[in-house]
Amino acid sequence: MTDAPALPPSLWAATAPPGPATRPLAGDVTADVAVVGAGYTGLSTALHLAQRGASVVVVEAAAVGWGASGRNNGQVIPTHPRFDPDHFVAMLGPEKGEAYAALVRDSAGYTFDLIRRHGMDCEAEQNGWIQPAHRPGRVALSRRRAEQWGRRGAPVEVLDRQQTAAVTGSDFWHGGWLNRDGGHVNPLAYARGLAHAAVAAGVRLHEASPATGLARDGQRWRVTTPGGAVLAGQVVLATNAYSDDLWPGLRRTVIPVRSYQMATRPLGENVRRSILVGNVALSDTQGDLHFFRFDRAGRLVSGGALVVHAGHDARLRRRIGQRLQKVFPQIGEVAFDHLWHGSVGITADRMPHLHELAPGVVAWIGCQGRGVALASILGREIARWLDGGDGRDMPLPLSPLRPIAAHGFARRIARGMLLLYRWRDGRG
Ligand SMILES: Cc1cc2nc3c(=O)[nH]c(=O)nc-3n(C[C@H](O)[C@H](O)[C@H](O)COP(=O)(O)OP(=O)(O)OC[C@H]3O[C@@H](n4cnc5c(N)ncnc54)[C@H](O)[C@@H]3O)c2cc1C
Repeated sequence: MTDAPALPPSLWAATAPPGPATRPLAGDVTADVAVVGAGYTGLSTALHLAQRGASVVVVEAAAVGWGASGRNNGQVIPTHPRFDPDHFVAMLGPEKGEAYAALVRDSAGYTFDLIRRHGMDCEAEQNGWIQPAHRPGRVALSRRRAEQWGRRGAPVEVLDRQQTAAVTGSDFWHGGWLNRDGGHVNPLAYARGLAHAAVAAGVRLHEASPATGLARDGQRWRVTTPGGAVLAGQVVLATNAYSDDLWPGLRRTVIPVRSYQMATRPLGENVRRSILVGNVALSDTQGDLHFFRFDRAGRLVSGGALVVHAGHDARLRRRIGQRLQKVFPQIGEVAFDHLWHGSVGITADRMPHLHELAPGVVAWIGCQGRGVALASILGREIARWLDGGDGRDMPLPLSPLRPIAAHGFARRIARGMLLLYRWRDGRG
């Protein structure tokens, strides 16, 4: 029995096993750490803190996985979407750059280990993640990426055009690279699996409990919700792209970009076996990203972005249907059973940001659309930091809060960027 609101309709809401039963926070409680937000960041941090012996209360405005964690494509990808490890080193210096590269390199393997260790029922498939090149000119990028990650010990392979066609089941791409640590999950089932594991470790989880205030109360912080408050020495704001104004300015450090997700009807066995052979996850090199993975029932789960959202349903069914037929001609007629959307948090410098907002209040924000694995492993690191660690030792440097100027205007401009990406994709 749970009092949390039902999630908006999606494939994942229709297929994920239930999370733990919870009640809204009632009355005042104390804890070592209060966590705001029950996505991967909040739940992984809470789980790791509880395993270290801390008492933890998680308050979630709506339900576990309500934010990006319950709506995403479920690809578990151990890379950054834009930057490669040598760039991290150039940007952050040798020590931090290599530490961040190691964190990203290990993130997918760690996520699947966590799933296995806690026996989470979330359709986990660690069969690899492929990034094929959409233009001949992008094949060099694939080689460079594979070389840089391979040099740092990641299990990667460069694929020529024939090998790429054999793995993808399509001759749409010109080559690519594969990381065997990657894969895919049912993202909501994974969030709920983390919630079960956290509760089993002693975390007190309250859905339907929005944090409406955060203020100093003597030596502690008071996180206020409509039904009660959490008094805690430390607070983790795990609200990411779904941040509100709880901490002034945090919401304005990212542009939330809408990403649509769609699932076909289950495909026939023969067609299914000819696409994404070996059940890999795929996202390619385009700015207007092409991404595909199967769910357990054989639905191809894909989607895309739009500049104009009005009338999105019909336009997406047409546009993404045509895309699937072009990339995988063997698919025949395409019918979609599910269509939903979520918000991806993009920062101005395209890097995730880690903040110590005040003594004892921490946050990370800005996954750039690659947060399934990263949020999971960052939860471990944030727990280590709050349990007597030092923020300066985190694999991602702490940065000051820098709200984006003219945020409302920047959000409108961001939609137009898609046109630029499509133009660039066409030119390679
Ligand atoms: C459509 C889409 C597709 C994506 N696909 C992929 C993918 O295939 N692979 C990948 O790696 N990444 C993907 N991502 C990114 C990934 O989903 C996110 O990086 C990740 O889920 C972030 O998790 P989180 O816990 O930090 O934030 P969220 O899951 O967004 O959780 C934040 C939570 O905070 C809660 N909250 C907000 N304000 C308050 C408050 N005041 N009080 C209490 N609770 C509050 C929200 O309700 C929400 O549940 C995708 C994202 C989207 C939107």
